Amino acid sequence: MYMDLIISRNPRSGEVLKEIPKSPIQSLPLVFERASRAQALWSKLSVKKRAQKLLQLREVLCRKVDELAAVIHEENGKPVIEAYICEILPAIELLTYFSGIAPSKLKDKNIKLRNPLLRYRKSTLTYWPLGTVAVISPWNYPFFLAFGDIAVAVLTGNAVVFKPSEFSSQVGLKIQELFDEAGFPTDLVQTLCGEGDLGAAIIDQKPAKIFFTGSVRTGKAIMKQASQNLTPVTLELGGKDAMIVLPDADLDYASSAALWGGYTNSGQACASVERLIVHESIAKRFAELLKEKLTHLTPGVDLGVVTMDKQKQIYEEHLLDAREKGAEFICGGIMSGDRTRMIPTLVGGAAIENTKIYNEETFGPVIAMTTFRTVQEAIQKANNSPYGLLASVITSNLSLGEEVARELHVGSVMINEVLFSAGLPETPWGGLKDSGIGRKHAEMGLYEFVNVRHINRPVMNFFSFKSLWWFPYSENQREFFRAWIRLYQGGWFEKLANTPHFLWCLVKFLKGEPRL
Ligand code: NAD
Repeated sequence: MYMDLIISRNPRSGEVLKEIPKSPIQSLPLVFERASRAQALWSKLSVKKRAQKLLQLREVLCRKVDELAAVIHEENGKPVIEAYICEILPAIELLTYFSGIAPSKLKDKNIKLRNPLLRYRKSTLTYWPLGTVAVISPWNYPFFLAFGDIAVAVLTGNAVVFKPSEFSSQVGLKIQELFDEAGFPTDLVQTLCGEGDLGAAIIDQKPAKIFFTGSVRTGKAIMKQASQNLTPVTLELGGKDAMIVLPDADLDYASSAALWGGYTNSGQACASVERLIVHESIAKRFAELLKEKLTHLTPGVDLGVVTMDKQKQIYEEHLLDAREKGAEFICGGIMSGDRTRMIPTLVGGAAIENTKIYNEETFGPVIAMTTFRTVQEAIQKANNSPYGLLASVITSNLSLGEEVARELHVGSVMINEVLFSAGLPETPWGGLKDSGIGRKHAEMGLYEFVNVRHINRPVMNFFSFKSLWWFPYSENQREFFRAWIRLYQGGWFEKLANTPHFLWCLVKFLKGEPRL
């Protein structure tokens, strides 16, 4: 890349698509000041009005869908249909879902206080925007991941400073265009193009929160930097997702699931099936079927290209390591002649579990396969990973599938499906361990974008009654609180037996010395 330009390239041909000026780092204070001004006005609108605006955005998106899909295809290299299925449709679903739930979910919520002695007070939760948040996103789903975060951020009353990946800046600018055309206020969403140094400089501006999607390495660096100002973060990071195929699985179905789960987006998906854990009794037949189906995938139609050159180094490193350690290549294992694709690869054998290709995120059209004998062994193998994003279980026995699911240490489990739950806005998305912190989507995802304020007040004013725990401390007060604690002790009989003493202590205390 040139000093002051981001060069957007077609990853198939290497052709320069656009030269995009880098956003100057020194402009960031002004960017944040403008965002804060826009946010102050925007947050005064009711949630309902903001939700209506989101539906206008959906309208603009629907009208521009082909133009957008073309840009995603050109800059990212994925087939146009994958732009429809995995980027635009989930975004439309997300706008529809969140504009529908936000007005009721962000309404004040009353909390009934449980303790009878505190019933003269009531509690309410109120939700309010965070302020100006940062959205920093990757290149693999360059539209949906960033667009979804920005949409929910503005719906909840925030302003957004958005940095797309340097490998998807054109798609990033398209996102900006959509918000502008839908009539969102100037400066509410600001897209800045640049590399990691720009991302780091954005964090130095102390955004109210950072919504980051990307690699574990960058996630850790961001969290470390954010800790300087105690800036909260949600981190959606990598995965090495396992698919467990139980011995009763329909093999045609299971191999088709692995085919899409492992090779859609050319395997450049955080929730790709990268590890297959197949019962030993069906492993041979399963591998044959999957290998056969792989021969039917057509480059350019079903399979896109490797978006980022840097990925090829990881593929080569993982392939070399697998070869050196004696893994068995069932198919693939090499780059295409023009080096724009990796030939879809399935690798297994006795040594597989010691290889990088089985243990580390490859982020390419690669599945590493191992076998198991007992269900417990399959669960143990699936959980034996530093990642915990998503897992799949394929079985004819749905109860057993659910039993297995409940043992898996991941954010989501799909039974007889793969990968696509990231596109279900009503279900939470996110991982544990190295796969990240926090959840997006669903109600819990909505609350990631707001502050919660708890207000506690008396039902009405009783100025003559001062709280029991206020000064001065006295012997009667001590006895009363001791009697109160005793009420929690033992079974119902014991509680009942302790009640008269409690009431006697209460009366004695209330009749005693006045509160200060
Ligand atoms: P990356 O970490 O290299 O870059 C992501 C973004 O961070 C880019 O915009 C980049 O410019 C920026 N960045 C880099 N260094 C930075 C720094 N020091 N401070 C601030 N920002 C910085 O990741 P990538 O290669 O773009 O994306 C691939 C990774 O993303 C994979 O590991 C994949 O699993 C993960 N991912 C996760 C999810 C999920 O939902 N969990 C979704 C998609 C991708």
